[in-house]
Amino acid sequence: MGNEKIPQVSGTRDVLPVDTYVKADEPWLRIGHYHLVEDAARTLFPLYGYQEARTPILERTELFARGVGEGTDIVGKEMYTFDDGVDGKTTSVTLRPEGTAAIVRAYVQHNLQVAGGETKWWYTGPMFRRERQQKGRYRQFTQIGVEAFGSPGPRVDVEQIEMLHRWLSALGLKFAMHINTLGDGDTRPRWKAALQEYLRARKDQLTKDSQERIETNPIRVLDSKFDKPEILAEAPKIDAFLSETAKKHFDGLQEGLTRLHVPFVVDARLVRGLDYYTLTTFEAIATEGLGAQSTIAGGGRYDGLVRLLGGGDVAGVGFAAGLERIALLCAAQNREATTRPVVFIAPLGDAEAAKADELGQALRAAGLAVEVSFRKSNVGNQLKRADALKARFALVLGESELASGKAKLKELATGAQHEIELQSLAESVKKLL
Ligand code: ATP
Ligand code: MG
Repeated sequence: MGNEKIPQVSGTRDVLPVDTYVKADEPWLRIGHYHLVEDAARTLFPLYGYQEARTPILERTELFARGVGEGTDIVGKEMYTFDDGVDGKTTSVTLRPEGTAAIVRAYVQHNLQVAGGETKWWYTGPMFRRERQQKGRYRQFTQIGVEAFGSPGPRVDVEQIEMLHRWLSALGLKFAMHINTLGDGDTRPRWKAALQEYLRARKDQLTKDSQERIETNPIRVLDSKFDKPEILAEAPKIDAFLSETAKKHFDGLQEGLTRLHVPFVVDARLVRGLDYYTLTTFEAIATEGLGAQSTIAGGGRYDGLVRLLGGGDVAGVGFAAGLERIALLCAAQNREATTRPVVFIAPLGDAEAAKADELGQALRAAGLAVEVSFRKSNVGNQLKRADALKARFALVLGESELASGKAKLKELATGAQHEIELQSLAESVKKLL
C-alpha cells in the first residue's frame, strides 16, 4: 500500500467551486454554473404547473429493459447493471441511465393515473451510461427533465416546447428547436415497411450497426451519425404515410408554436426509435459552442409507455436536458458563477481580529457575503488577497479604528474611500451597493 494518487473513474468529473482548474479545450465547470441552470428551471417550470419529483438512482434492470427498450444503445451496451443480493434473493439492478422510465414507474406505482386529469412533474439528478468520454459526453452526467401525463392533444406539446425555449433563451444560449413527427399506430407500420424496403436495397452501403437495424429498428437508422448522409436523406419520408390523426396533431403543433412565436425547424431525420414513442419529437440543438455533442435537450410524446409499464392508457410527453452541456455553454460565456465577497475585513492585531469576527457575523446576518481574513500580514498583502477574491470593499482594522469606532471602507475597483461607523457597518455597506 503506497501513497500514490488515486485517479477518478473515467467519464466522471469533479465540479469544483474554483475557476483556476483549466482543462485543455474545455472551460472548467464550476458548481455555480450548475446552480445557474438549475435555479432557472426551478423558478420557471412551476409557472407551467410542473412539480418536482425525486426517484431513486437504483432501479430494477427490467424497468429500463422494458421502459427504454432492448433495442436501444442505452440498454444494449451502456448500462451499469449488477446483482443485488440480500437474504439469498438476487435482484438485477441498474444505475438509472435516464429519467423517464423511473418517473413513469413512480406515477403508476402511486396510482396517479386513477385520479385522472393532468400530472406534470420535473426532476433532476445524475444519470449513468457507459460511453466513451468526450467533450459534453460523460459516464455520470446530470439531466433536468419534465413529464406531462394525461393530455393527448398537441397543445401540451406546444406549451412544453415553449417552456424549454424560454428556459434555454433565459440562459443566453444559441440554439435551434428541431421538431418532427413519428406518426401514430396507423402510420408507422406502413412507413417502416417502406423504409425497410429502401434500406434492404442499399444494405451493402450501410454500416454494420445500421445493417442489423434494418430488421430490428429501421427508424433508428435515420438517426445514424456514421452512414452516408445522402442515403439517409433520400429515404422514404413519413409525410406520405401520415394518418389523418397524426397529420392533425403535427399541424396543431406547428400552428401552436407559431401562435406563441416559438421559432422551430421541421427536421425529418429527428427520430426516436422506440415503438411507444408517437407523434411529436423535438430537440434543442446548440448552434455554437459544443461541437459534436450539440444536442442540449431531447423530448417527445410517448403515449404507449404508461400502458407498457402497467398503468393503462395515459398520454405522456416529456423532455430531458443535459445539464453539463448547458453549463459548458454558460461557462464559455463567462457567466458569473461564484458569490464574491462584498466586504473583505483585514484585522491587523489580535484585538482587531476579535472585532473582525463580530463584524463578519453582523454583516452576514444582514445577508452580505464577507471574507474575514485569518492571516497575520501587512496591509499591502491583505489588500492583494481582497483583490484576488474580487471583493467589492476592503475594511482594514487597526488600533486607531478599534479605538475610534470609525474606519474607512475602500472600494477596490475605484479606490474610493468611505468613512463609516463600525457599529452601523451593515447599513452603510447596503447604502453603498
Ligand atoms: P446523444 O445523441 O448525444 O447520445 P441521446 O439521444 O443519447 O444523446 P437523450 O437520451 O435524449 O440523449 O438524453 C437527453 C440529453 O441528455 C441529451 O440531449 C444530452 O444533452 C444529455 N446527455 C445524454 N447522454 C449524455 C452523456 N453521456 N453525457 C452528457 N450528457 C448527456
Ligand atoms: Mg446517447
